[in-house]
Amino acid sequence: MSMGWTGCFLLPTTATLGVILGLWAFYGLRAPRRHRPHSRDVFHCDICGQVYVADTGAELMVPCPRCGMMNEPIRR
Ligand SMILES: [Zn+2]
Repeated sequence: MSMGWTGCFLLPTTATLGVILGLWAFYGLRAPRRHRPHSRDVFHCDICGQVYVADTGAELMVPCPRCGMMNEPIRR
């Protein structure tokens, strides 16, 4: 009686749904953090005020074309 309908059907179904939901949540939360390769970002130099657009790959900071100061993108 203990391994009736609940044990043979509901438990495996619930476990499978739990794994699927877990994987979906895991990859769903990871996806927005993944860095886009070769995206064009806008930079603003803190030193000379130069605004410039540059291709960013693995590196997140790109030197200013006017003074060489390393800056982070203001818009991604
Ligand atoms: Zn600069």
